[in-house]
Amino acid sequence: MLAPLLLLSIALQGSSPPVAFVDVNVIPMNRDGVLEHQTLIVRGDRIAEMGLAAQLRPPGDATTIDGRGRYLMPGMTEMHGHLPNPTAGAELTENVLFLYVANGVTTVRGMLGNLAHLELKARIARGELLGPRLWVAGPALSGNAAPTPEAGRRLVEEQQAAGFDHLKIQEGLSRETYDTIVATAKRLGMRFAGHVPDAVGLYHVLESGQASIEHLDNYVETVGGVDSADDARIARVVAATCAAHAWTVPTLALWETFLGTDDSAALAARAELRYVPQAWRASWAEQLAQMRKTTPPNDQRLATLALRRRILKALQTAGCPVALGTDSPQLYSAPGFSILREMRSLTAAGLSPQQILDEATRQPARYFGAEQEFGTVAPGKRADLVLLDASPLADLTNIERRAGVMVNGRWLPEADIRARLERIAAAYQ
Ligand SMILES: [Zn+2]
Repeated sequence: MLAPLLLLSIALQGSSPPVAFVDVNVIPMNRDGVLEHQTLIVRGDRIAEMGLAAQLRPPGDATTIDGRGRYLMPGMTEMHGHLPNPTAGAELTENVLFLYVANGVTTVRGMLGNLAHLELKARIARGELLGPRLWVAGPALSGNAAPTPEAGRRLVEEQQAAGFDHLKIQEGLSRETYDTIVATAKRLGMRFAGHVPDAVGLYHVLESGQASIEHLDNYVETVGGVDSADDARIARVVAATCAAHAWTVPTLALWETFLGTDDSAALAARAELRYVPQAWRASWAEQLAQMRKTTPPNDQRLATLALRRRILKALQTAGCPVALGTDSPQLYSAPGFSILREMRSLTAAGLSPQQILDEATRQPARYFGAEQEFGTVAPGKRADLVLLDASPLADLTNIERRAGVMVNGRWLPEADIRARLERIAAAYQ
């Protein structure tokens, strides 16, 4: 029975009536600022038309959404997400995918892959499962997984053949193995991204064409650490990063959790933790307690955090590409909600709302070479949209004042989002 039902639901989706956002303020992100009094018509999973509300009438069969006084922006991208293992069960996986969408995250770059994630990606793309569009990395290429150059070459070939979108570089690779992985990836046209293995070093990773560097990995060490960092060293590493067109995914909020002064009671009090399983919360408390036993005293941790902000600010000022990512579900970071926390961290680091929104929308689309597909609001683009009751450009915390989310052309009013979030919270109580 399942197959015919699935086919029916796909057929219905294909012929579903258009959706019109009527008289809304559009934050297009392909230029700064706001386009006022726009009407936008969505057909299937695409933005079909957009124009002045006075001129563009919604078709008679359209479902209309009142946009007056509201703001419509592109769906956001989580550039460093970790999807659940298939062993965690379908319910947890579906809940995690929903937490992303509920927060306006409509694309996720999965950074630790598993063959099951390719199936998830395909089911979401076909509209069988509600979730963000996925770009999936293969299993991590670490020193353990690839102890020799030959093992590295074989893993890259296997992951490319399996259909993974990109490769995840992890710690522990020798320089020789890293170079073999890079050569194989280039031969097969696969992008590689992730960490900076200590034996390889930041400058060699940049020369090798690694697409992104996560967590500002190895930057603090490369500029000499807290005691020896100076403007000249920072300028050198920033220039090399820009010249390599390497993307930075700073995961600043995660570093604030690692290095900040909040204890586990303060972190556990985060309101969004109601939406994740009790077992996650317990393991985070355990991990943090272990980490804090061996981490340096507060003043040193805060100095390291300040240095990270200084390096990030220098990368941004120089115009090196930066995109938002959180490493969720790392310590106390609930999927989707963690993007909102990263935005607060970047605001505190001195970025403007326009810059931060850019790094959450248009920049990730550029990273994927998919600017024609998503990341901005314009005809022809994917109908991945967030409707807000107030302007996030005036105050970025307005990103939490949602009226609804559209993903893959499917409209979710805020009341429905809230209702499902409550069901998830009740299940994890
Ligand atoms: Zn990660």
